[in-house]
Amino acid sequence: MTTDALATPLQFLKGVGPRRAADLARAGLTTVEDLLYRFPLRYEDRSRLQPIASLKTGQSASIAGRIVHCGLRSTRRPGFKIFEALVKDETGGLRVTWLNQSFLRDVFSPGQHVVLFGPIEMRGSGGLQLTNPQYEILEDDDTETIHTGRIVPVYEKTGAVTPKIQRRLVHDALQKLSDDLPEPLPEALRVRHRFPGRYAALVAAHFPPADANLDELNRLATPAQQRLIFEEAFLFQIGVLARRRAAAAEIKTAAIRVDDRIRESARRVLPFKLTAGQRTALKEIVEDLQRPHPMNRLLQGDVGAGKTIVALLAALVTMENGLQVAFMAPTEILAEQHFLSISTLLQASRFRVALLTGSTGGVKRREQLAEVASGAVHLVVGTHALVQGDVVFNRLGLVVIDEQHRFGVLQRATLREKGWHPDVLVMTATPIPRTLALTLYGDLDTSVIRDLPPGRLPIKTVAKPESRRDDIYDLVRRELTAGRQAYVIYPLVEESAKVDLKAATEMADHLTHDVFPEYRIGLLHGRMKADAKDRVMSAFAAGQFQILVSTTVVEVGIDVANATVMIVEHAERFGLSQLHQLRGRVGRSQHQSYCCLIYQSPLSEDARSRLKAMTDTTDGFQIAERDLELRGPGDFFGTRQAGMPTFRLIDLVRDHHLLALAQGEAARCLEEAPPSPAALAKMLENWNTRFRLIEIG
Ligand code: ADP
Ligand code: MG
Repeated sequence: MTTDALATPLQFLKGVGPRRAADLARAGLTTVEDLLYRFPLRYEDRSRLQPIASLKTGQSASIAGRIVHCGLRSTRRPGFKIFEALVKDETGGLRVTWLNQSFLRDVFSPGQHVVLFGPIEMRGSGGLQLTNPQYEILEDDDTETIHTGRIVPVYEKTGAVTPKIQRRLVHDALQKLSDDLPEPLPEALRVRHRFPGRYAALVAAHFPPADANLDELNRLATPAQQRLIFEEAFLFQIGVLARRRAAAAEIKTAAIRVDDRIRESARRVLPFKLTAGQRTALKEIVEDLQRPHPMNRLLQGDVGAGKTIVALLAALVTMENGLQVAFMAPTEILAEQHFLSISTLLQASRFRVALLTGSTGGVKRREQLAEVASGAVHLVVGTHALVQGDVVFNRLGLVVIDEQHRFGVLQRATLREKGWHPDVLVMTATPIPRTLALTLYGDLDTSVIRDLPPGRLPIKTVAKPESRRDDIYDLVRRELTAGRQAYVIYPLVEESAKVDLKAATEMADHLTHDVFPEYRIGLLHGRMKADAKDRVMSAFAAGQFQILVSTTVVEVGIDVANATVMIVEHAERFGLSQLHQLRGRVGRSQHQSYCCLIYQSPLSEDARSRLKAMTDTTDGFQIAERDLELRGPGDFFGTRQAGMPTFRLIDLVRDHHLLALAQGEAARCLEEAPPSPAALAKMLENWNTRFRLIEIG
């Protein structure tokens, strides 16, 4: 009965009609469970009832008393009414007023016992009054008050559903439930961590006992609250681990072997010595490749750490074993760039590389598809369309996904549907904060490259207001004179795309005519056709012009080692990770590089913190942590990243320790006391929809 009780739609609660149900639904609350698994915004201590005689102005107070008389009073302002009551306790009387709430006429009557909570104010004429208080009318047999006389929960208003209405709903919902709610946490675990039972925790989280600590409550640190947060983390992790086990049970297309011939072949394509970090990552990847089960690995590394070559070596091992590789980039420009560099690196090998993007059309495309299908082409570079569309591989062994966090995981299902069980290597654009790595990538193994290729000088970063633009132009001139190149980046926000495009175009003109007439300047923006973009990028890479003015299409991955200056216009509009990505476009050679963040004053507090983080450190791992703190996890990945789980109670930053604990406990549970398949299925019921991970198979 109780499972159903939690699933009860809210409109079955007393006082919830279609209108309120709609308001609640808009806030994501449709069942009793939804309602109960949402913490109050805050808790207020209305517990100490104060004698009326002791009240002072300027405080909020809870009082209990009897209504002596009450009624509606008109004021001089037309249509403006005051409901007024005189309330008495043993120590004295107090005037109580509510502005413009005429309906109270039907609520209060003399003789009633009431509990009131609100601000005590001084009336013009002298005495004190209680203004617009929260109220509760006590029935004679009422033992429990819910709005006053205790620590009360204050909920976020949703539409016309006030905090007070919600308090009543939550209270009613809890009354209807009982202590025999299904308990998703194993008994032993609960005992180990002294977590209260589920029902007790729900009750205490909404209607805390009298001795609860207000400060702890507001930090969501009481045992009851912690238990509920943990419960969510635990179920999430159980699902992640179960999925991981399912993946581990898959068997790959073909086994991969590594011998001296293959090692030699890798050595031949390698243009430099790998860093220690790259070597370790490659070793971990190649070990995975040799296992019978498909690899599911995330390769993390800061911008410029050299992830591409590691992936390419993994690709080489795969191809040497007679299998094909799909190499996917998030944009066409990046796909083209990967194609160029991979083709160059593989020139000396016998492997054939093809580029397949949306703009490859007609006969050419059909020919290429045929060659991929026959196995004549060994490595295909493209965008995500590669595994989604009409592309058929002969023997797909490895999928490399560059610069997209969740993407790789999402694609597994698509791959499986096509009957493919390749190894999958996902590479991140920027480091992922530890917290997120724990939760979002619990189903992936992780390799981290912490070092940078040798000889890199830390990039010097400055943040300057508009008015100091000339200093920056001086710096640019110095660098250009020394033969280097520079980027000037404009923000591109969808709504103002036109304006930004205009700004970028005008800046390119201005720089050409007024500031750097002796240099050549190129313009790159999102509205250009792919081949036009490509021409500009290639010309810049070839040094045919010195300054590239661009909207953020160069954001990820572009690699022009001779560029040493990155100027970001309107730096205050960019997110921290994005700024770090942009900065990573320079500092790719032995020359000193510079990143200049030009901002428009006044800066918001947040923008100031972002710019400060940028000038404080060049460590992408630290930047990622800062970014997560500043923006919150919801925005961390931006809108492009599908598949971010949504949690009801968990805050990825605040609850870091509970997430880590839950991960350990989930693993222990599956190891030591695995639930029966039926129990597991029950635990994971609605897992995908619950965490909004519907796309994942
Ligand atoms: P990211 O990790 O950001 O994708 P890339 O793979 O684009 O970085 O590498 C950045 C640059 O560093 C490239 O120009 C690459 O050729 C170079 N590089 C990578 N590894 C090394 C290394 N071990 N020694 C010297 N240069 C390297
Ligand atoms: Mg890269």
